[in-house]
Amino acid sequence: MALTSLQTLNTFALAASADDYLAISELSQLKERLPLQQSFLVLGGGSNMLFCQPYQGLVLHNQLLGIEHWQDENHYYFKVAGGENWHEFVMYCAEREIGGLENLALIPGSVGAAPVQNIGAYGVELADICQQVMAIDLLTGEEVIFSHQACQFAYRESVFKAKRHYFIHHVVFKLPKAWTPILDYGELKAWAKDCDSEISPLSVANEVIAVRNNKLPDPAELPNVGSFFKNPVVSKPQAMALLSEYPQMPQYDVGDEVKLAAGWLIDQLGLKGYQIGGASVHQRQALVLVNTDNATSQDVVSLATYIIERVLATYGVELEPEVNVIANGGYSSLAQLVEEQHV
Ligand SMILES: Cc1cc2nc3c(=O)[nH]c(=O)nc-3n(C[C@H](O)[C@H](O)[C@H](O)COP(=O)(O)OP(=O)(O)OC[C@H]3O[C@@H](n4cnc5c(N)ncnc54)[C@H](O)[C@@H]3O)c2cc1C
Repeated sequence: MALTSLQTLNTFALAASADDYLAISELSQLKERLPLQQSFLVLGGGSNMLFCQPYQGLVLHNQLLGIEHWQDENHYYFKVAGGENWHEFVMYCAEREIGGLENLALIPGSVGAAPVQNIGAYGVELADICQQVMAIDLLTGEEVIFSHQACQFAYRESVFKAKRHYFIHHVVFKLPKAWTPILDYGELKAWAKDCDSEISPLSVANEVIAVRNNKLPDPAELPNVGSFFKNPVVSKPQAMALLSEYPQMPQYDVGDEVKLAAGWLIDQLGLKGYQIGGASVHQRQALVLVNTDNATSQDVVSLATYIIERVLATYGVELEPEVNVIANGGYSSLAQLVEEQHV
């Protein structure tokens, strides 16, 4: 069987392959293969994937396109096909002065992947604007419509991360006509304070683009998957103990718990620029690991494992990868890989 290379289909640009590959530009192409009897993996823009071994199964590459819209008295609605580019959809709305998505500008990837980890940035999450997710259960072939509540959105989590057997083909967004910009995030707050022209969805999107371009490496120039780790959430007593030892540590209350900034924890250890093989910690943004020099997945796993160990030893906090680790024909974890490969 001819293998399909996935190297240009993941933004880490790691060498990877799949036993079987199907690009889906019409839903009928998928439906005629259902129910699936083999291992499968749904792929969008590959901007949140860490391929560690050849994928022994079928890769379903979502390339469905199309945007439908309608409105009622108070809201705009958009039904967007899963293969549409996320950033282009954000700009489609912002350019029409339809607000709600602008803080999520320049996040790479597809619309269909956005609910999976409930993408978020600058004080907004997909959950804030997602009304419905339309999917196909690949194990049964059944059409399933998930209400907002059924999506079980949480910080970088959703039902689609817990149950990996859905192919999201459309996402429905509900955007209020009465737009309120969300400008609480540091850099946006400072910009809004000094802004002498009218603030609009497009001006906010353009500012988000400028801020992100300034601090995040472009995967097309320096392959990466954005934030490699989630921001860890700890108990209030643990957060207080950490604050007394590290008074500068940024902390954010989330209900009864406290979120820490993973990038700050890594940065304080002096790890910016730290390199193993061809993989390194980005020079400007410690939360981003980059493929600087033909990195292998083993380089990335070793680097990530080193960071996890250093952070745990120093702060007693365990970092968890945000990226999806793929090995052994399915989803895996760094710990499992280290155990198996003795990296
Ligand atoms: C430079 C950079 C910056 C980033 N910034 C952010 C950020 O600010 N906030 C943020 O939240 N994320 C960020 N990310 C991560 C990434 O962009 C998002 O997770 C994005 O939603 C991934 O989209 P994708 O199409 O590339 O998904 P992929 O990487 O292809 O897939 C990611 C996961 O979603 C699943 N999936 C993909 N499509 C579907 C589908 N149609 N149906 C079911 N499952 C599917 C895959 O199986 C996989 O588990 C960033 C990444 C990069 C490279």
